[in-house]
Order: sequence, then structure tokens, then C-alpha cells
Amino acid sequence: MYISELGEMWHRARVEPRTVHLDSAAASRSSNAVIEAVTAHLWRESERGAYIAAEEAADQVARCRRDIAAMVGHDADELAFRESALAALRALLTYWNLPMSATVWVCPNEYGPNLDQFERRGYAVHTMPSTDVYGRVDLDALENMLQFEQPDVIHVCHVGSHSGIVQPAAKIVELAHRAGVPVVVDAAQALGQVDCVTGADIVYGTSRKWIAGPRGVGFLAVRADSLRPVEIESSEAFIAGRIGLGVAVQELASFGLERVRRELAAIGRHTRERLHGVGSWELLEPIDEPSAIVTLAPPPGWGSGDVAAARERLRSLGILTTCAESWRAPLFTEQSVLRISPHLDVRREHLDTLATELRGMGY
Ligand SMILES: *Cc1c(COP(=O)(O)O)cnc(C)c1O
Repeated sequence: MYISELGEMWHRARVEPRTVHLDSAAASRSSNAVIEAVTAHLWRESERGAYIAAEEAADQVARCRRDIAAMVGHDADELAFRESALAALRALLTYWNLPMSATVWVCPNEYGPNLDQFERRGYAVHTMPSTDVYGRVDLDALENMLQFEQPDVIHVCHVGSHSGIVQPAAKIVELAHRAGVPVVVDAAQALGQVDCVTGADIVYGTSRKWIAGPRGVGFLAVRADSLRPVEIESSEAFIAGRIGLGVAVQELASFGLERVRRELAAIGRHTRERLHGVGSWELLEPIDEPSAIVTLAPPPGWGSGDVAAARERLRSLGILTTCAESWRAPLFTEQSVLRISPHLDVRREHLDTLATELRGMGY
């Protein structure tokens, strides 16, 4: 039985999976319509010539640009396509004239590869304080800090890769703007799952996660005078992927973007309720955190290698999850966790099976 009313439709739009796919935070399953749009463009490239095919598909790409931009609260002409979220961040830092040793404030859940980008450029990175054990940014403390000191930029990892915690991005933007500080939001895990219209100056993300577009496409939306998106966009590109992303976004919109977000939050809650306390695995988010990323710390005494082995064991049983190691959130943890990230087509039986296996591995 599907947990979501949208489950049956989401399932029927796709090929039959050969695995219990609980790994949308890595990459969602593309719909048949997305795959068909991608392949149709590849055929057209071969039939007519790739540049002619691209010209003919200009309206489709323009629509995708408008739709993605709207999802993050930007205009279409503020959006550039790149190959991935990380490629978008790299392009941003290359073209943006930040001071030589810029100060960047980040959330405790900041994605490790983003930190590498800051460190490589010699930026001074400071972690904003958090209110709770989950690493959620403390807004009162932030407001206070901003009265005494203003960083060159605040970078918000809206939803991280190592936890389902949702940062209060819109509130952070509000406080930062009051202090005259620009905000960049990494929406790689947030887009599709949570409302990404936050008022941020710059937002970037990726196609393949919660909006279930093809791999190899990312985007960067900028509202900054010094930056021109046309400069940032990769001219040689996987055009078919941009077309596929456009189809994925339209499908999501046909379900209702807000409804999808609500249903994914309900799936997260349901998954946490089901797995909470199973086999001494420890749930690492509040039950009702509004995201569909669920993480479990292993039973006491288990090391990182054991979590990796548990993930492999689940995979051998046909259940796809991620062993999320600490490099994904190095400011927050040294621990590896098991990450479960179901999409709309998850069924109660899937979670029952997972719970049974975890219980079996608990001791
Ligand atoms: C996946 C991810 C990224 C990077 O996205 P790519 O498209 O793989 O470059 C960045 N930030 C977070 C939080 C992610 O989960």
C-alpha cells in the first residue's frame, strides 16, 4: 500500500523498479516521459544536426529555465545551466568578485565538497551557532552576531546530504539582508522537497535528486549586479538533459508543487515513525522534520565500516540506501549514518521490510 495518494501515479509513470529504491537523495528514478524526451532529442541531433536540433528545442529549454527560476524565486534571465550543483558553485566563485580572503558564514550541516571550494580559495569559513543537537541555525544568536560583524556572504545549505534537517533559510535571508549581507543557498537537496523561494540572492541546485530530472544538469540563479548568467552558463552542454529536466519539472508541477512537498514531508514522518527505535538504530531527526531524508546512527559500538557493511547487506537484499559518511557534513559529525530517502512511490511494505532487516542487524 502506498503511503502517499500520489504514490500510484508516481509509480505508474516509471518502469518497474528492480530494487526497493530508498535513495532519492542520491538520484531519483526518472519517469518514462523524461527518458523519452531525452532520447527523442538525441535522435533529433543525429537526424538534423545537433545545433539545429538545439535551435528547434529553444522553446522547451526556455520553458525549463522559467520553471526552475520560478521554483527558486528568480526570473528566467537570472538562471544559468551548469552540469551539477558543485559545478554551479565553482562557476559562481570563479565569476563573482569576492574579496581575496572573503569571510563566509555557513550552517553546521554544510556540505563538505562546498567547504573544500571555500578553503581552496582561502576564504575564512565560520560556522553559525545552532539551537539544538540537530544543527539547526540559531536565529536569535545570528541576529545578535550580525549587529557586531558582517561576513562577505552567508552560505546556507538548505537541506544537507547527511541529515534531513531543514534550515530556516528564508529567516536567515531576512536577517542577513537587514545587515546588508548577501545570501547564497545550496538547494541541491531542498528543491522539490521544501519551498525554495527564500529571497536569497543566489541559489543553485541539481536536476537528479528530488525533482527526478536526468543526471548531468545543474543550475545557478543569480540576482547580483556584478554577475551575468550568460557568462556563467556552459555553452557546450547536455541539451537533451535540459529538455528532460523541463519535462520532470512539468510533471512535478502537474502533481502540484506544494502538494508534492507536503506528501514528501508526510513520507519522512511516516518513515521515521516506522524506523524509530528499531534494532537500536538511532533516529537523527525529529519525527516531524518536513523532509523525506531520514538518517539513522548505528547501534552503540558500531563503526563507520559497519554502517557501510549494513548498506551493502541491504543492497544485496534489493534495498537501496546510502551510507552517508562524515565528509558530507564534516563540521557537524565524524559519524557515518544510514540515509533513507524515499520518493512518492514508497510503500508501507518497503519500510516494513527495511525495519525487519535493520532489527535483524541490530545486535
Ligand atoms: C548532492 C549535493 C550537492 C552536489 O550536487 P551535484 O549535482 O552532485 O554537484 C551539493 N550540496 C548538497 C547538500 C548535496 O546533497
